[in-house]
Amino acid sequence: MRELTTGPRVLLRRLRELMAEVLEPQERLDRIVREIAQNMVAEVCSFYVLRSDGVLELYATEGLNPQAVHLAQLRLGQGLVGTIAASARPLNLTDAQTHPAFTYLPETGEEVYNSFLGVPILRAGRTLGVLVVQNRTKRAYREDELEALETTAMVLAEMVATGDLTRLTRPGVELDLGKPMSFSGNSFNDGVGLGHVVLHEPRIVVTNLFNEDSQRELERLQEAIGSLRISIDDMLSRRDVAAEGEHRAVLEAYRMFAHDRGWVRRLEEAIHNGLTAEAAVEKVQSDTRARMMHLTDPYMRERLSDFDDLANRLLRQLMGRDVKTVAESLVKDAIIIARSMGAAELLDYPRERLRGVVLEDGAPTSHVVIVARAMGIPVVGQVKGVVSMAENNDAAIVDGDDGKVHLRPQVDIETAYAEKVRFRARRQALYRELRDEPSVTKDGVEISLLMNAGLLVDLPQLVESGAVGIGLFRTELQFMIASTFPRAEQQERLYRSVLDAADDRPVTFRTLDIGGDKVLPYFRNSGREENPAMGWRAIRLTLDRPGLLRTQLRALLKAAGGRELRLMLPMVTEVGEVRAAREIIEREVRHLSRFAYSLPTRLRLGAMVEVPSLLWQLDELMAVVDFVSVGSNDLFQFLMAVDRGNSIISNRFDQLSPPFLRVLRQIVEAGTRNDTPVTLCGEMAGKPLTAMTLIGLGFRQISMSPASIGPVKAMLGALDMAKLNALLLEALHKPNGSHSLREVLSGFAEDNGIPL
Ligand code: PEP
Ligand code: MG
Repeated sequence: MRELTTGPRVLLRRLRELMAEVLEPQERLDRIVREIAQNMVAEVCSFYVLRSDGVLELYATEGLNPQAVHLAQLRLGQGLVGTIAASARPLNLTDAQTHPAFTYLPETGEEVYNSFLGVPILRAGRTLGVLVVQNRTKRAYREDELEALETTAMVLAEMVATGDLTRLTRPGVELDLGKPMSFSGNSFNDGVGLGHVVLHEPRIVVTNLFNEDSQRELERLQEAIGSLRISIDDMLSRRDVAAEGEHRAVLEAYRMFAHDRGWVRRLEEAIHNGLTAEAAVEKVQSDTRARMMHLTDPYMRERLSDFDDLANRLLRQLMGRDVKTVAESLVKDAIIIARSMGAAELLDYPRERLRGVVLEDGAPTSHVVIVARAMGIPVVGQVKGVVSMAENNDAAIVDGDDGKVHLRPQVDIETAYAEKVRFRARRQALYRELRDEPSVTKDGVEISLLMNAGLLVDLPQLVESGAVGIGLFRTELQFMIASTFPRAEQQERLYRSVLDAADDRPVTFRTLDIGGDKVLPYFRNSGREENPAMGWRAIRLTLDRPGLLRTQLRALLKAAGGRELRLMLPMVTEVGEVRAAREIIEREVRHLSRFAYSLPTRLRLGAMVEVPSLLWQLDELMAVVDFVSVGSNDLFQFLMAVDRGNSIISNRFDQLSPPFLRVLRQIVEAGTRNDTPVTLCGEMAGKPLTAMTLIGLGFRQISMSPASIGPVKAMLGALDMAKLNALLLEALHKPNGSHSLREVLSGFAEDNGIPL
């Protein structure tokens, strides 16, 4: 075998020339395998491509019988080639025919070759094919020869991925890269979206593979790794990070990877073999992914995504400005796929181009989901593995009704969904017809359906949905999407627009509910919080920082001059907090009246019931407020001690469980006793089944995302409230240790023809 210090470099140069030449695809492949065989002094070089039916087909060979090309086939896992593809690991064998997996394919004439070196062709951790060299003599291939073949395989991966080979593929046969895939996740927002994939954090595509000067590339790598390490050290020394346990652990893991000698050595080796620094990062990342993909240990898989993240950071360092951002090239029908994302990031995409959102993580009550819901975009979350299997521009379907995602769907699936979209459109038209109808149950009970909002984009929905008002305006959303504290005038402007849009419909503004998972990037909590959801947030924070509350109250009071102002306090734990807030409000009112501002005609103050301690102070609370609204998202989280954002447990308990329903019933009873209006504005108000249950428990006002108003109104029209009320009260009065009444309630709906 030739001296390999120059071998791979020469080979890569030849491959580059071959890629640039105008050649028929088969001719190009034939010449590529010939070059590889020659360069590696092998008698055989064969190139197998993985098809979507799990078959590896011989696409080109030097040395084996040329008649076998496109005829020789092995299943995934069959023979040596199939084993390499299935395990995504190389095989280096001195005597291949004695290997237990060896399968003899008579058409190839390979019986005379003894030694065998095969490597998977990988891209982003996916196996696209296998590249093999063989020799007659029994020899062991050296480590550097293996490296060289892997490097070459990477170039071939690019050819497969860019679709160069599709012309060689027989009709009806597809390459694995284009294989349709379906995923199951959880529905976070209803609706169906058809479109094309936009990876939120696009995998950086390295186009410059071959290096001109290894020394120069090594220096670039050194430099980039140096900056990467500094940036991680910087992050670790920042005060806010030092204070946060979880971030710190993750960053420590990053630091460990960034200093990992093995990683750096593999990168340097790939550069020595002729790759550019960025191509080397991609190669090593792909190898690591392929090796770790099969791990099921969640801890290790988490480490894999840390590692991916690190490699991506390094790629960004190396490619700098060349990295194209998604926004520049956003397709018209984008299905955004992300591991997780912030609410503000979603708002960076133009609404009219969004068809759906798919998240690997996320929870139904996380903020990006709340914002997506407000925007009426279908969302499926908890879709494991989707990011690595999707490529930008792949066709995709998001089925928010059933929690399914289809990548590269087959025509019949697409047709079925297109029909579903048309069906939904017809149903939407039906809901629109219901829009101006009163919302009453079949037995004549009037119910107020209000909507939740928080941003200007929500306002047109007020008229379109037929909501009778805004039951919850989350003022913190304006703060969350800003890069600095919104100024008083900006706040006032938003509130005024909301009231103008609402005309004379009631709007309930909730004062700032920040803290917990609603983080403002520009506002740092100085103390360390083990449990931020139960920490310094919402009314606790604003009472401690009255300047913040005063600014907001002043903006609200001014915006509502001459009209009614409804204010609501979040996360109230004891009645004293309402009194304290009321004092601040009254002081602001006095201040404004001194300066002759026009004041609200009437001020109504309410509290959210979302901390369980209030359940034992309902009468005292109702004596000092004008209304209460149940925040069922948080109340459920605190009552059941189940983190609403933690996907591992968020489905463990049911909001339709007897204990939670009993609590809700108690709140309704307290409202009746004290003549205090009670509403509910958590996510459970927006699903027809849970909304039906709320009405059965006695709620007469509920507030939900605007897209839910139509379906909930349609449900109401078919509901005999008295009948459901009797059923529910009976179920809740007698001992009932069941996990949930969901089945009983869906059975009731089905038996009574109630559309859910
Ligand atoms: C709730 O907790 O139910 C609620 C409506 O408030 P948020 O989801 O904003 O915490
Ligand atoms: Mg809440």
